[in-house]
This record gives sequence, structure tokens and C-alpha cells, in this order.
Amino acid sequence: MPERAQQKERVFRGIAVSAGVCRGKVLLLAAASDVTVPQYSVPDDGVAHEIYRFEQALAQTRQQILDVQRKVTEGMGAEHASIFEAHLLVLEDPMLIEEVTRHIHKNKVNVEHAFREVAEKYARTLSAMPDDYLRERAADMRDVSVRIINNLLGRQETVDLQHLTEPCIIISHDLAPSVTAQLDKKMVLGFATDIGGKTSHTAIMARSLEIPAVVGLKNISQKLKGGQEVLIDGFNGLVILNPTEQTLYEYGQVQRQRLTFEDRLREMKDLPAVTSDGVSVVLSANVEQAADTESVQAVGAQGVGLFRTEYLFINRELLPTEEEQFTAYQQVAATLQPHPVIIRTLDLGGDKYLPHLNIPEEMNPFLGWRAIRYCLQERDLFRTQLRAILRASVEGNIRLMYPMISGLDELVQANAFLDECRAELRKEGVAFNENLEVGAMIEIPSAVMVADALARHVKFFSIGTNDLIQYTLAVDRLNERIAHLYEPTHPAIVRLIKLTVDAAHRNGIWAGVCGEMAGDPALTPLLLGLGVDELSATPSLVPQVKYLLRALNMAEARELAASALNCDSATEIFTRSRELAKKVAPALFENNNPAP
Ligand code: PEP
Ligand code: MG
Repeated sequence: MPERAQQKERVFRGIAVSAGVCRGKVLLLAAASDVTVPQYSVPDDGVAHEIYRFEQALAQTRQQILDVQRKVTEGMGAEHASIFEAHLLVLEDPMLIEEVTRHIHKNKVNVEHAFREVAEKYARTLSAMPDDYLRERAADMRDVSVRIINNLLGRQETVDLQHLTEPCIIISHDLAPSVTAQLDKKMVLGFATDIGGKTSHTAIMARSLEIPAVVGLKNISQKLKGGQEVLIDGFNGLVILNPTEQTLYEYGQVQRQRLTFEDRLREMKDLPAVTSDGVSVVLSANVEQAADTESVQAVGAQGVGLFRTEYLFINRELLPTEEEQFTAYQQVAATLQPHPVIIRTLDLGGDKYLPHLNIPEEMNPFLGWRAIRYCLQERDLFRTQLRAILRASVEGNIRLMYPMISGLDELVQANAFLDECRAELRKEGVAFNENLEVGAMIEIPSAVMVADALARHVKFFSIGTNDLIQYTLAVDRLNERIAHLYEPTHPAIVRLIKLTVDAAHRNGIWAGVCGEMAGDPALTPLLLGLGVDELSATPSLVPQVKYLLRALNMAEARELAASALNCDSATEIFTRSRELAKKVAPALFENNNPAP
């Protein structure tokens, strides 16, 4: 194609987070907080018109906020809509309005520019205040500013990603997990972002949807333009602008080999997950939404090791009712029975937040009001979910698991509240499984250190390595700048996994891993050697793990783990585990086959 031949190929390198190769035209999303605002002079006789535009934009914004406020109040009650009161107050702030007006008069500039200057100054001042309440007002100021500027510029707030009309590749500064969850796979061939890490929930969602993705590309969203042609290589973390015929040919070859190998992997779907020396391991799958059960069955996973229920709550204005949750849980369990389905109670917070739940913006959301901490305070919401899970437990093989347990108190409180919900249902004559098994996620180092005490109150542990790594190593799982420090095989992590597994076994319960480590076949020898009883991975990764596991000799895996526990180097531990994986299943690591 002559047009492509004239344009130079350019390669951008980032972090590979979701396997696959795709090619298409760029759809560039602007970051909400980074709206570019034009600046131009206005003549003396244009000033009145700018002020008129300002008044119009304020009125339009006010109407929009009132509409959203009404919907949220109807759906969730007035207390959840209170944030909009603060937004309305910003719109009515006489000092702000006066200062913008003065700025236009004095400097003879367009209103968008004047407003942006003044609003930013206010937001900066507020965010530097020692008072929590005032600091939170900075976020309100910024939220409202974006709306006003979009209204002034006649710009849609966001592209409607659910109704795209042609296939594209999204390039963006960032994508929230809630946005990724909405992507239409037929239209969004892949995506690439400036920031992010391998275990961000956006990356996890991309793997779950099987959309090729690369993150941590630093400033790709400023370098590419809408409509340009790019290729995304989600295996190697590359974005290739204007790929040449030669590049496309090479990718075509590799793709054919991969597809042949994937067919071989699929043929093992119904074979048991048992090592070459006869040790059975439970190999299950992680799901984000009820519809994922199809993928779980397609790869022959033994049930669900982690059902992230947050996605039932995201991208909607009303919270899901008990009935709605009951139906979702019951459907998944009924479809997959007799295999177990481990339903994790709500883990909102961190990078998964719901603007309408009125969770204030936090300085450190991953250390903040998240998961079980949130649920133990928001009892109504927690009760609704626990009742729905309990009721669904009569259908299929449901287990329940709490996220982010940091110590015994939280676990005891959660269990006591679960008992209250049981008592309520009994009183109402509603059936549930009296023997429902309850487990705890082990993803905070403090939980590892008190694992013996925790083990006496649950039937299983599931190690959430994604968080365990970030909290142990103090490495934000979303931050691409420190992604090199996010080391799953750090000796501290290996030892913490071992401590957890040993505490579980000492107390007669089992321990699995449901973090992303479980889906990396290079780490399967290490995890199994450490004594992990269950691995739960994104469905698309289950076949590779099963292939590896069936080739692995447990005696060798144990030997490897013993040597890892005496090793001080993360790289060395990774290399040893990968070498053993490669020795027993070389095909998985050859010719760009799926394994990393
Ligand atoms: C984890 O932390 O490893 C985990 C599985 O939970 P999430 O990724 O949802 O935080
Ligand atoms: Mg977690």
C-alpha cells in the first residue's frame, strides 16, 4: 500500500499486560483531567458575549448536575447524592464567578481560558489546606470545572465506548477498570495506555476479555493521533505505528504458530490437573462477571477460585439489589456445579471506585477505605450481598471469601455479621447452605504473620499475590515507573507464601493463589513446590498452566522451592523456576508461544 510505505514505522515499548496481536486505527481518548483549553483574545465588544457564554455554561452544568442528583437520589437515597450538593455550591460560589468575570474584563480573553485559570488556582489552594473537608472541595472544584469547560467547548464528556461504529485501537493516558469492563470486544481490538501496571484491574480486565493490551508507554497518548494505523503486540509490550509490510508478514507467521499451539492446549481441556508424578492440584479460574462462566467451561477449569463481584456494582447508577445479586451468583454456581465457585465479597476502593457511592477522594486509596473495611462500615450494602450469597448457596457449590483481611478482629467481625445474616434468613424461613465454607484472602503482610489465628476461623485461604506484592514491597501495582520493583519472586514474597501455606496446613485448611502469579506458567513450579493446593487464573491462561502442571514432577518442584527459600535474589528465583518450567514443557516457551 503506497500510503503506508511513505510513513515511517515507529516502535513504542511498554509493559505487556494482555496477550494477543491486533492492528487497527487509533481512537484517542482525552484524559478528563487534561482537557486542552484554547486561549485567545477577545475584542472589547466581545467581552459581554463571553460573560453571557459563561452564564449559559453555568446554567447548563447546573441542570446536568441536578439531573444526575435526581437519578442517584431515586436509586440510592439522598445521602448518596450529597456529593452533588457540593458540586452545586461550586457553581454558585459568588467569589469564583466574580473573579472569572473580572479576569475576562481585565485580560480580554475567552471564557474557557479565564475560567480554567481561576478554577485551577482555587483547586490548588484548597488542596494545600490542612483541613480534610476543604481538601476534598478541591476534587469537587476540578470535577465541576471539567463539566463547565466541556459545556463551553460543546464537547462530549466522553466517547461512548459502548456504541462504537467501527473497530479501533484505544490509546489513552489511562483507562479505569470500569471503562475497560464496558469495552465491546468486536469494536475495541486492543488498547494501550501511558500509565499502569501488570496487576492493575484494567490489565486484569483486559486479560479476562482477551483484548490485547500494553500499558506503561509513558506518553504515547501525546505522540499518536486519532486515525493512525498501529499494531499492538500484547505478548511483548509493543505498539508499532505504521507497521511495514515486512513487520506485518512476520507477525502473521508468529500468529499462525501460536494458533496451532493453542489448538493443542485446548485439546487438554478435559484432562485432569495432575502432575507427572500423580499429585492432583485444583486448577480454577478467576471471573469478573457472570457471563465469564462460558470461558471457565471452555478451558475446563475446576470451578471459580475468585469471583470479583465488584463489576456487578460498577457502571450503573443504582446498586444491584439482593435479588439481582442472588440471580447472578446462583446462575454462575448452577452452571458450574459440581465445581466450587468462590464468591469474594465486595472489594471496592483502590483502583475500583464508584463515584456515586460517595467514597471521598483519598490520598492513598490502596491504603484507604477499601474492601472489607468499607463493607464493615457500610453494613446495609454488606448485608444485601451476604444475604444474596447465602441464598444462592443452595444452588451449586458456593463458597464465600473476604478480601483484604488485615487481622483477626476484621475476620471475627465479618463472620459475626455473616452469622447475623444467617439468623435473619432462618427467621424468615429462607433456605441457605448451613455448611457454606468461608475463606479469607491473604493479601496483606500482617495477615500472613497472624495466619495461624486466622486459619482457626475459616475453611481456606486464597493468597492475593497482586496486593501482597504491592503491600510487602511498598510498590504501587499501578505505577509503571516502579514496575521493575514489583517482583513476584522477591525472596520476601516467596517466604510469605510459604508461611501462609504452612499455617493453613498446620490448621487443617487448604491454601490457594488467586493473584496473577497463578496464571504465569513460569511460576507454576515455584508455587506448587511451596505447597499451594489450588491455582486460580484468568480463563485464557488456564490451559498453559495445566500444560505445565501435567509435565511437572512434584518432587522437582519441591526441591526448587526449597532452594528458592534459601535464595536472596528475586531474579535468581525467577530464573530457576522458569528453567524448570522450560525443561518440562519446552514447547510453551518456544517460538513466541503463549508463555511470557
Ligand atoms: C490480589 O490482590 O491478588 C487479588 C486477587 O485481588 P485483586 O487483584 O482483585 O485485588
Ligand atoms: Mg487484592
